[in-house]
Amino acid sequence: MNVLNASGWKPGTPVPAGDDFSTVSGNRGLMLEEPLIFEIGTTETTGIDLPEPAADGPSRLGKHARTSAIGLPGLSEPETVRHYTRLSRQNYAIDCGIFPLGSCTMKHNPRLNEKVARMPGFADVHPLQPVDTVQGALGVIDELAVWLIELTGMHSVAMTPKAGAHGELCGILCIKAALQARGEDRRVILVPESAHGTNPATAAFAGFTVEGIPADANGRVDLAALTGRLGPDVAGVMITNPNTCGLFERDMKAISDAVHAAGGYVYCDGANFNAIVGRVRPGDLGIDAMHINLHKTFSTPHGGGGPGSGPVVLSEALSPYAPLPFTERQADGHITLVEEETAGDRHPQSFGRMSAFHGQMGMFTRALAYILSHGADGLRQVAEDAVLNANYMLRSLEDLLDAPFAASGPCMHEALFSDARFAKSVSTLDVAKALIDEGFHPMTMYFPLVVHGAMLVEPTECESKASLDQFIASMRAIAERANAGDENLGAAPMLAPRRRVDETAAARKPRLVWREPAA
Ligand SMILES: *Cc1c(COP(=O)(O)O)cnc(C)c1O
Repeated sequence: MNVLNASGWKPGTPVPAGDDFSTVSGNRGLMLEEPLIFEIGTTETTGIDLPEPAADGPSRLGKHARTSAIGLPGLSEPETVRHYTRLSRQNYAIDCGIFPLGSCTMKHNPRLNEKVARMPGFADVHPLQPVDTVQGALGVIDELAVWLIELTGMHSVAMTPKAGAHGELCGILCIKAALQARGEDRRVILVPESAHGTNPATAAFAGFTVEGIPADANGRVDLAALTGRLGPDVAGVMITNPNTCGLFERDMKAISDAVHAAGGYVYCDGANFNAIVGRVRPGDLGIDAMHINLHKTFSTPHGGGGPGSGPVVLSEALSPYAPLPFTERQADGHITLVEEETAGDRHPQSFGRMSAFHGQMGMFTRALAYILSHGADGLRQVAEDAVLNANYMLRSLEDLLDAPFAASGPCMHEALFSDARFAKSVSTLDVAKALIDEGFHPMTMYFPLVVHGAMLVEPTECESKASLDQFIASMRAIAERANAGDENLGAAPMLAPRRRVDETAAARKPRLVWREPAA
């Protein structure tokens, strides 16, 4: 089923043509190459015709008229459209194939959501419109809030944070405000070593000192180590559940009880809510604050830096400190916006604002469309199918790939592998690059840090068995080569327009301006 092995093609050798590929899946590395617009356009060409200005008349541009050529390349309109369309197709996307990035929950974005979000009544409203003219839009925010509270069993929700990490900050600022209100100066936030990188970053950004908590041999938080560290200086813990090893933290309730008994608060990173939505209510586990990535669990688009949306559900203890503004439905159905001017005595302890306006309206609309089209039963099935798919992945690969925690039972929504069985000469990076030649986006690699050479695969519930099998076939073929020490793996990707780039230099010394090559 896969390009490299079914065809017998060896990386580093010319790619066979025509019939040689008749036996393969059809998946190929990205083969489109597209030059820069500077390389295909010329300064003599333009896509638009403007009438020549009258030679003798006064210039309407006055002193703003150009005196020298602009020097930008021009293309005709169809050439321009094709250039940008081809560029857009260099992006691997969930609409192109399985996107197995662990921890990212790359789901299909149902087109129904898009249709609803584009309705002019939602798409064209402005955040400064009088509330009487946007009752429908506020109703969407309010109804979504009710669903999120119901699904999590929490007391309230702050809708305005605009991404997961932004939501973490919101939750931690609530904890900070609550401690201030108690007159306590607790400085330490405990974060398990398997945490998402945003967790310690958030705690540090909010002014706390971060201390790590080790994982036990089964990939879960070491309960004894955590409870042993609790004390009057600990503000709280930040725990991802299900955690980044793809495992449910079974001791969550015991952890919450111990943290509360020691006077701290429990932040739960809820980015992995997809694995438990409809099955587990974080409120029942004693959690005080948790962000929900609408762009993960509730299938709003993500990637490319946004837009995302990270509402934060809060316990009763933290609700008084929630940010403004928020919606409030009156007995007559009318929705008001509680803002600084109107909050008054009703919400005096708010820590402030997370964003200028009400949050990511387009994401709210999509998420509510997704929730309503699934219903409570459908959402529960989402979690069940996501977990089923991940376990199918785990069990289909564990004979070839080391799966560090597979022996301790089923995984949640993502399957975790390590590089333990690879030949010495082969790295996790080589395997990820080889997946590109198979026409797939690589999985998350080298994360979580607790596993050496980690590969984290999250298929989500959206993939059919056929598409899982296709990916598994490619992974098996690559794993066999990796375990056997196939040196050609070091050359992957062969079929993509770019081979191995210097990722460090690309990040540290980016060259963002095109310069004409020296003649
Ligand atoms: C995605 C993710 C985050 C951060 O969410 P953003 O929306 O990217 O800021 C935090 N924690 C975990 C576990 C995640 O998977």
